[in-house]
Amino acid sequence: MNRVYIKTYGCQMNERDSEAVAAMLRARGYRIVSDERESDIVLLNTCSVRDLAEQKAIGKAGHIAARKKENPRLVIGILGCMAQNRGASILDQLPDVDLVIGTQKIHRVPGYLDLLRSLRESGMPVGSTIVDTAEEEGSQDAIRDHLLAERQVSAFVSIQQGCDMDCSFCIVPKTRGDERSRPMDAIVEECRALVDKGVREITLLGQIVTSYGRRDYAHTGGITPFVQLLERLHGIDGLSRIRFTSPHPQGFKPDLVAAFGRLPKLGEYVHLPLQSGSNRLLRAMRRPYTRERYLELVAALRAVQPRMNLSTDIIVGFPGETEEDFEQTREVFSAADYDMAYVFKYSRRSGTPAESLAGQVPEEVKEQRNQVLLGMLEQNSLRRNQSLVGTRQEVLVEGPDKKGLRYSGRTRGNRTVHFPAGPEWIGRLVPVAVKRASTSVLYGEMEPLAGA
Ligand code: SAM
Repeated sequence: MNRVYIKTYGCQMNERDSEAVAAMLRARGYRIVSDERESDIVLLNTCSVRDLAEQKAIGKAGHIAARKKENPRLVIGILGCMAQNRGASILDQLPDVDLVIGTQKIHRVPGYLDLLRSLRESGMPVGSTIVDTAEEEGSQDAIRDHLLAERQVSAFVSIQQGCDMDCSFCIVPKTRGDERSRPMDAIVEECRALVDKGVREITLLGQIVTSYGRRDYAHTGGITPFVQLLERLHGIDGLSRIRFTSPHPQGFKPDLVAAFGRLPKLGEYVHLPLQSGSNRLLRAMRRPYTRERYLELVAALRAVQPRMNLSTDIIVGFPGETEEDFEQTREVFSAADYDMAYVFKYSRRSGTPAESLAGQVPEEVKEQRNQVLLGMLEQNSLRRNQSLVGTRQEVLVEGPDKKGLRYSGRTRGNRTVHFPAGPEWIGRLVPVAVKRASTSVLYGEMEPLAGA
């Protein structure tokens, strides 16, 4: 009765939370299984950013609940953002759920599963639900355990929870709470321990990573706490690359832009959420920058690293978005010359400032604008990837590709490359000559290492 299947919806933070919960469960003797049908306990770690994500999780939970007819002892848990957003009201739709655990309590899941088990063993009627969506001081420090696969090269490290921004479309401040950072020493120690286990690339995670530690650490000599953290991680021997997501354009102060010139482990890739290219909409979204400032930032990053690869988040169909606003988004989208983008159709979220705005955009208009941007992105990614054909790229080798035909790794600009290699290269930085390119990947051949 201890086999746990975890399904995760949404962002990398959710993936990381699930991994930490899985590691804690394993340490307590639970088994993590990858086949849902073999499980005694199903945990859904949910997302609330868009309504579709919530609907998917609700649909899935309903489907699993049907299994309770044959197996009344099956345990179902709803964790994370939707649990936080909806709380006990989830039970109106899903009365068979056993656990509803919010974002600041997710590390308590192993304890709650133990409790549920002992209550049931002592004769508590099957069907009672544990709901815990309270705030917990220091809960950000609990997401630190890892479940590394054999020879895992890349790992996520959570440095902060919550968000103090006030974007009018976004439910995250409600679901994740106020911004709270972890102590710098604990993060450095965690990263060091990962490197000792063979990890070579670390991606720092937070809702607004660039705000890291701003209430806890002084700016010393114009260097923000986030850049101080990057500097300390940069000093870890054996760590080859440091990435981070998700930043906010406002967080790119001169010290962070300059860091890309002096800290080589940062590579040449930045995720820079734009949301809209219209100043009027940026104001309505409560984003504290203009299109002009955003493009200045793009230029500053490419002045430091000319080949800087950029990705972004865009919302199409925000209330009141006109053709003219969308045209302005297209202009910035084209000028920023992105390698990757996540384009979202605006989803009305309850309790957010934009919920009651007039001028909701029809679904078919959102879809059409979505397709326009995806079409532009496809052409752009292909052009930018093709421009790498004939160049030599430094690649961090991750392991066999999904088809098992070649090995794959990523360039300093975060593009995936497939090339013939062997297991002895996993975790190493190797030069790869790029021979071919598609929209999403590069193909190449390893070159001899200098001095080899
Ligand atoms: N750090 C990022 C930023 O710049 O604010 C925010 C990360 S957010 C959790 C992920 C993305 O989801 C956002 O950048 C935004 O594009 C999208 N998103 C958030 N709320 C949304 C909504 N109501 N409808 C559609 N997309 C949304």
